Amino acid sequence: MVLRYLPESVPGEFRQHLVNYADLHYKAMLAREKGARGLLVVSGPNSRVRDQLVPLSFDAALAGSSLGAISINDSVAERLLAAAGRNLKELQDAWDGQTPGPRFELAGGTLEAHIQLKHQQAGARNVLARLPATQGPQKPAIIIGAHLDHIGRGEGLNSLARSGEQGQVHPGADDNASGVAALLEIAQYLADLRNRGELDSPREIIFAAWSGEELGRLGSDHFAHTLATRATDGQSLASLVAAYLNLDMVGRLDRSLYLQGVGSSSVWSGEIERRNAPLGLPVVPQSDSYLPTDATSFYLRGVPILNAFTGAHPDYNTPRDTAERINYPGAARIARLMALITRSLALAENTPDYVAMAKPAGSPSRRNLRAYLGTIPEYGASDIVGVKLAGVAKGGPADKAGLNNGDLIVELAGRKLENVYDYTYALNGLKIGQTVTIKVRRKGKVLEFSITPASRE
Ligand SMILES: [Zn+2]
Repeated sequence: MVLRYLPESVPGEFRQHLVNYADLHYKAMLAREKGARGLLVVSGPNSRVRDQLVPLSFDAALAGSSLGAISINDSVAERLLAAAGRNLKELQDAWDGQTPGPRFELAGGTLEAHIQLKHQQAGARNVLARLPATQGPQKPAIIIGAHLDHIGRGEGLNSLARSGEQGQVHPGADDNASGVAALLEIAQYLADLRNRGELDSPREIIFAAWSGEELGRLGSDHFAHTLATRATDGQSLASLVAAYLNLDMVGRLDRSLYLQGVGSSSVWSGEIERRNAPLGLPVVPQSDSYLPTDATSFYLRGVPILNAFTGAHPDYNTPRDTAERINYPGAARIARLMALITRSLALAENTPDYVAMAKPAGSPSRRNLRAYLGTIPEYGASDIVGVKLAGVAKGGPADKAGLNNGDLIVELAGRKLENVYDYTYALNGLKIGQTVTIKVRRKGKVLEFSITPASRE
């Protein structure tokens, strides 16, 4: 039997360290290594969760398991512990401090559980189209793609629906019908150029609509993996693919168009500047190339990448991501920019160089994130120091504290924040229900608020 989460009373710094080991996957792995035949997970009275049972959710890792695991509520755990002369609250109080207690045998009680596992398999398809090279010798191809799947009614996936909206269709107009629409537009434009003899290129252009992105880039990863088995060294796609361009959420052009992955090749800055000159889009280049989208399936296999993204917003992954909220002229201009970049790469004599970047330190692992503030960071406003808010969830801790969209968070619980990574790190140090100070910059002034983190679960 293990407790969920991590010790509640340790200092923030230590929490940030422990959080890496608090994940249930980690605990299950450890239990298996120690020879456990099964795992009981209990929340405990000090955890202040909304639901004592761990929600059953889909894990896209597609892994088998040799360890049965069940979640039990506190009263079942109490009864098991009572048989061994122990008390759950007392144990948790003791273990919440800095010194962990020794493990002990749970003798005297028996528990019978019947676990029924049903292995479900489903098929999905990527949809690809090719514009063949028109001259030889053939050079590495250009691929441009967008994911066509979405989260349906949001069950088991990362729905951000408010209470009252749960279970409704999440239309996904921005994420990612906008990207697929732009992809089709780009394909039509380039095919037309080709038909008129204005795109005579030694490079094939591949248009890809990926499935399974929301489950963890399954479609693009399958394609890239399969293609790599045909490459000369089997690991890198560099000999086959010159560059991969991606469109994931391009329907909400407001202040900025983020072009992500600029650090993956030295060609991007100049390329973007030249192709954007006639269009004048408000481009914000970002160098990070480890992105939560299909581009990563290619970047990890030696291919320079570029992802177009118009930013996070309060309707993201909710039933409010609807078609009438899309900025259509904006999406069309973004499609034009990405088409011009694709064309330029297709005609270029040289293949773009690949820059292997280190994964940013303290890469935010939202999976382990438990404290909930109800903030929606504006993704990668890289030119500012702090975390800019694109919105706050209604009725959430940030809303109650008095934070507004447009606020720039500069400090949380005594920790100065420069970017969203720092923010995730600071969030990991928070304790549910313990009020802390949050400082934001609003209209040039730094304001201080008190905020009380709630539990995400
Ligand atoms: Zn997406």
